[in-house]
Amino acid sequence: MIRAVMFDFGGVIAEEGFWLGLTHIAIQNGKDSDGFFNAAVELIHKPGGYVVGMSDESAWWNELRELTGIYGSDQKLREIILERFVVRPEMLQVVYELRSKGLVIAMLSDQTNWLDELDERMPFSHAFDHVFNSYKIHKSKRDPSVFRDACSALWLKPEEVLFIDDNDGNIARAKHEGLNVIHFKDMVSFRVELEEHLRGSIPDDKIYDCIIIGAGPGGLQAAIYLGRYNRQVLLIDRGGGRTSHARHIENFLTQKVISGKEIITLGMEQAMNFNVRIMKGTVLKVIEEAGFKVNVGEKVYRSKFVIVSTGGRENIPEIENVYKFFCESFFTCIDCDGYRTTGKKLVIIGNSIQSVRLAFAMKQMYTKDVTLVLFFYEPPDSYIEELQDEGIGFIKGRPTKIIGNEHMEALEFEDGRRIKCEVIMSNFGFKLNNEFLDGLKLKRDGKGFKYVTDHNYESSMKGLYILGPLTGHDQVVIAAGEGATAAIEINKRLLDL
Ligand SMILES: Cc1cc2nc3c(=O)[nH]c(=O)nc-3n(C[C@H](O)[C@H](O)[C@H](O)COP(=O)(O)OP(=O)(O)OC[C@H]3O[C@@H](n4cnc5c(N)ncnc54)[C@H](O)[C@@H]3O)c2cc1C
Repeated sequence: MIRAVMFDFGGVIAEEGFWLGLTHIAIQNGKDSDGFFNAAVELIHKPGGYVVGMSDESAWWNELRELTGIYGSDQKLREIILERFVVRPEMLQVVYELRSKGLVIAMLSDQTNWLDELDERMPFSHAFDHVFNSYKIHKSKRDPSVFRDACSALWLKPEEVLFIDDNDGNIARAKHEGLNVIHFKDMVSFRVELEEHLRGSIPDDKIYDCIIIGAGPGGLQAAIYLGRYNRQVLLIDRGGGRTSHARHIENFLTQKVISGKEIITLGMEQAMNFNVRIMKGTVLKVIEEAGFKVNVGEKVYRSKFVIVSTGGRENIPEIENVYKFFCESFFTCIDCDGYRTTGKKLVIIGNSIQSVRLAFAMKQMYTKDVTLVLFFYEPPDSYIEELQDEGIGFIKGRPTKIIGNEHMEALEFEDGRRIKCEVIMSNFGFKLNNEFLDGLKLKRDGKGFKYVTDHNYESSMKGLYILGPLTGHDQVVIAAGEGATAAIEINKRLLDL
């Protein structure tokens, strides 16, 4: 169980003023910025150096001037650095939140007398229970024993402390000493990793207004709406959904082209700004009991409403090199990528009457050069004749490999045959990510596949909303629109309107 969270200062709580300032000084003096930065860092860290409070600031500037030939008074140079250590309000907000949940909050920083000065300019130390400054404790994070010293000073074992730093060396040393670690890269990934580490450490008996399962476009859009109604929202996502695989989305309003990853990262940032709690985890079960109980591993979270937006995953045939060309020239969704086959040599692979119909559709919309490959399905004679009339090639057989280096060139079959192609449209349907709904006996469509909902996306269970491909079309804009609709409706229900 984590009892304390220990933060680095520059690059985590504040902007990395040391690096930014030294880079500025290097450019001003016509020096190589990396070389100058490394020299300055090594000098400040040398045995008996400034960062461990064994020598003073003017000695460090003098040596740095001598070593690198830079100009400027101590006063001018230090100001260039200090003014760049700007405290990040969003990080202080995290610190306050964690403290209010009963965790001990510490800072472990390789700093100097500057830290106290910065605290006077932009107060932050009041938010920390303990501040360990290398200048005062005479040990930097280059010495691995500093991590155990800090834990002992907190009266905690290393495994009870979570350490956050943007420097990979510090992270490696802290981890080696047994602390839990987060390598800080950006706010979004930090918040997600923080939730993951703190799960089980913070009592969570809160009843959320809504738990949203799945941080794709549907879940995120719902989260943004509910967050902006100031509702208590928990968004749970296991990571790596379908949208994050979409490299070029060209059909989303106002975005000429955007990747799925960008949509998700921006959406998460936007939702967090409206105080949505985002947690990494896999939902294993949803139980209807005094509202809802949502199981993530051993842990149970409670809410008044649930939105399920967990999407699906396509069935991809086992063909060598599929993932090499996936999304570039191997496609699975006509609405998403049909357009990208325009005028190209196209092969459609599938194993059903839908695949035959897809061949006619693709020819009508995108390209005259279509070959249909069916693995073993035998279409009715009338369809075979129509394929011939339309000039669509038809092959029965099992492809095993896609040939091509930079570009797709051909499809090879198990009997060694090869057919030339520039693009492939695969048509093997997809599965829903819905295992955790199994016990709920929700109403499904005639095929027992998709869920039946009303026009606000409420399923046959009151209070449980289902969006996206689980209930209808599989498009970003549609999932997002459904998320907004469900959120507006849930808010009305919370208001009792
Ligand atoms: C290669 C590719 C290209 C595409 N191109 C386009 C395009 O150009 N235009 C377009 O509009 N659409 C495109 N799409 C489709 C688009 O990605 C989907 O319509 C969209 O993903 C649906 O959004 P969603 O929110 O319902 O689900 P998703 O985006 O699939 O998100 C669901 C989330 O739920 C999570 N999850 C699943 N199960 C659980 C669980 N048990 N617990 C916790 N979390 C869980 C997943 O990890 C995922 O993060 C493309 C899809 C793919 C794969």
